[in-house]
Amino acid sequence: MRHSCCVVSLALTGFLVTPLESRAQGRPIDWPALTRETQQVLGDYLRVNTTNPPGNELAGAKFLKAILDREGIEAVILDTTELGAGRANLYARLKGNGSKKAIALVHHIDVVPAAAAHWSVDPAGGVVKDGYLWGRGAIDMKGQGIAHLMAMLAIKRSGLTLNRDIVYIANADEELGSTGGIVFVNRHPELLRDVEYLITEGGDNQIDSAGRVQYFGVGVAEKRTFWQRLTVRGIPSHGSRPTRHNPVPRLVAALNRIANYETPLRATPGVRKFFRDIARLYPEPQRAWLMDIAGALNDPRAKEWILSDVYWNAILRNTISLTGLAGSDKTNVIPPEASAVLDIRLLPDQDEGEMLAILKGIVGDTAVHFSTLLGPKTPLENPVDTDLFRAIEKASTRAEPRSFVTTRMLTAATDRPTYRKLGIVTYGLDPFRVPAAESQRGMHGNDERISLENLGFGIRFLYDILRNVQ
Ligand SMILES: [Zn+2]
Repeated sequence: MRHSCCVVSLALTGFLVTPLESRAQGRPIDWPALTRETQQVLGDYLRVNTTNPPGNELAGAKFLKAILDREGIEAVILDTTELGAGRANLYARLKGNGSKKAIALVHHIDVVPAAAAHWSVDPAGGVVKDGYLWGRGAIDMKGQGIAHLMAMLAIKRSGLTLNRDIVYIANADEELGSTGGIVFVNRHPELLRDVEYLITEGGDNQIDSAGRVQYFGVGVAEKRTFWQRLTVRGIPSHGSRPTRHNPVPRLVAALNRIANYETPLRATPGVRKFFRDIARLYPEPQRAWLMDIAGALNDPRAKEWILSDVYWNAILRNTISLTGLAGSDKTNVIPPEASAVLDIRLLPDQDEGEMLAILKGIVGDTAVHFSTLLGPKTPLENPVDTDLFRAIEKASTRAEPRSFVTTRMLTAATDRPTYRKLGIVTYGLDPFRVPAAESQRGMHGNDERISLENLGFGIRFLYDILRNVQ
C-alpha cells in the first residue's frame, strides 16, 4: 500500500517539474540501492590486493576502469612503463558543458601492509560483519575512492546538467614514495590544465560520542617534512681505553641541546581561524583562550592547557622529534662514526634554510654535519573563499544541521602539494563520520573498517558537494 502511495506522489512531482528543471536538478536517486551497490563495489575493490610494497596498482586500475567503461565514462590506464611492473595510474573524465572549470576527485590505489594475525577478519576479504565492511583500505583510502566513484556515477545516472567536468584520478604509491602522483602530474599536466578544484584525503572530521559530526575539517594546509641526519666522525679504537676522538658523546651533546630547544610558538592565519571556529565547542575560559590563540599563548595557564593537546602543539610550531640513533654495534668498540636522524616538520610558511641555520646555531659544533634526508615539498596552503568551500558548507549543513566547517592543518604529508603546484585549489576532505578512536585503530593499524551506514552518508555528502559546486 505504501508503495503505491509513493508512486502517486512521485508521478505528481514529475508532472509539476518542467523537463528543463528536471535536467538541471537531475532525476531522483535511490540512495539505499546506491549504498548497497557501493558496499558491493568497495568489497570487490578491497579484495584486489594492492599492498605497497609492491603496490600492484595496475590490478586496481583495471578494476576501476571496468566499472567506468560499463558506465560509459572514458577511462585510461597511464604510466605503466614509468611506474614499473604491475603499477599504474588511472584517469577518467565525466564531461559537462564546459562552462566552468573542472573538479577532480583523487585517491590512491595502494594500501599499507596488514598483519593478518592481529586482525579479527581476513584483511583482504572484504568481509561484511556487524554492520561494517572490513578490510585494509576501507578508510585509507579505497573507501573514499569508491565513494568518489559512486557519487560521480550517481550524478551521471541522474542526468544532472554539469557545468564542470568531473575528473576521477587514482594514483599508485602514495603510501611509500608518492611516485604515482608525481609521475602523473609531471607527465600529464594537459589533463589537469582546466582543473580548478581537487578533493582528496587529508580532511579530519570531529565526531561526538553520539556519532554526530561536530565539525567537518577541510584540510587546507599541511606541515612539511624536513628530515635531517646528523653525523659526527671520530677515530675508532678499543672501548677499554677512552679517547677524546669518540664521536658518540659529541653527538649526544649535540642531540641534548636540540632536545632542550623549544621551537617558537606561532599561529598561522589558517590555524588562528581553526581555533576561532572550534572555540564554540568549549566552556569559558577555554572558549576565550581559543578565540584569541596568540594572546592565550602568553598566559601560562592557557598555554599549558593548549599545548597539552599533541595535535594543537604540532600546528602551532615547527616540531623536532629525535627518532633514530646509531653508534657502535659492539660494546667494546669506539666507532668511526655516530649518527642520528631527526623527524622535523615545518609550518607551511617556514623557510627550511632558516630552520637549518637555527639548528646549527643551537648545536654550536662544526664537527656535527647535517644532511637532508627528505626535503620539504611545495608549501601547501589553500584559499577558503572559493565556490568549493561554500559547496562543502552547504552540503554539511544538510547532512548535519548543527555542524560547521573549519580548516585543519595536517601534521603529516600527502600527495596534495604535487597537485597544488599546478595552481589547483586542493582540499583534504573526509566524506565519512569516523570517530577518532576508530580511525586511530584502523588506519595503518588492525581491523580497519567502515560502517555501511557511513558509506551511504559519504556518497550522499560527496554527491551534494559535486552538485552544489556546479
Ligand atoms: Zn592515504
